[in-house]
Amino acid sequence: MDPRANSEAKIIPPEPLPFVSRRALRRVTDWMAPPEQCPNCGKVVELVSNSEIYGREFGDWPYAYRCIDHRGCDSYVGLHPNTDLPLGKLADSFERQARKDNKRYFMDVLSRQNWSRNQAYAWLAQRMGIPESECHWGLFSVRQAHMAGAICKEALEES
Ligand SMILES: [Zn+2]
Repeated sequence: MDPRANSEAKIIPPEPLPFVSRRALRRVTDWMAPPEQCPNCGKVVELVSNSEIYGREFGDWPYAYRCIDHRGCDSYVGLHPNTDLPLGKLADSFERQARKDNKRYFMDVLSRQNWSRNQAYAWLAQRMGIPESECHWGLFSVRQAHMAGAICKEALEES
């Protein structure tokens, strides 16, 4: 668990976060320290609004850790809601490719079921056994992307 979760000291949020919630820190069971160096290229990591990545803010907690080498490495990862803690390792281009390859099955399920994106994510999160807040193609690891793809393919075959 995060060392600040049970301390009395006031938590000063790093820019650009508006706050860091102690209760939210306690909820994070798969704790990883905020990254300073990119695991994929060794360059510095910045904490940014995810609008810098997606073109608009995505989600209720629209922030990400991003490698400063935007053009080359371009690794990034989202945050656990209401914290400054990363959801996992910064994702590289292999992860992004795995997401891209598998996302089309998700989009097929969505249109076949006539679901909204939120409905589809709620379904997928439940099938994958992860919180809805962490269920997003932009956040999936290679393994999660393949898992999500397999779940969606199966659903398409069944329907
Ligand atoms: Zn990097």
